[in-house]
Amino acid sequence: MAENGIGFFDLDRLFLRCRRPLWDGRAPPVDDQRYCGAPTTPGSSWCPACAARLTLPPPVVVRRKVAPGAEARDKNPLVERTLDLVEGLAA
Ligand SMILES: [Zn+2]
Repeated sequence: MAENGIGFFDLDRLFLRCRRPLWDGRAPPVDDQRYCGAPTTPGSSWCPACAARLTLPPPVVVRRKVAPGAEARDKNPLVERTLDLVEGLAA
């Protein structure tokens, strides 16, 4: 992050700078708004540090192994269908 960030009007002047707002909650008046301002990763609006902070890793799906022919005692059809859909999206 650039020290103390950059102002709203610097976002257009300083090409390829990270646009992550540095405030929490309600935006301050435009003259007081500060943005990260660090160089961005190519193809991203964020610098590497902000990208890591703003994005979540993909969800981890854990399926219990069931012996062939055995039924899971608490098998829930809705959960099973959801897991099948998620696996289909990940394939
Ligand atoms: Zn940043």
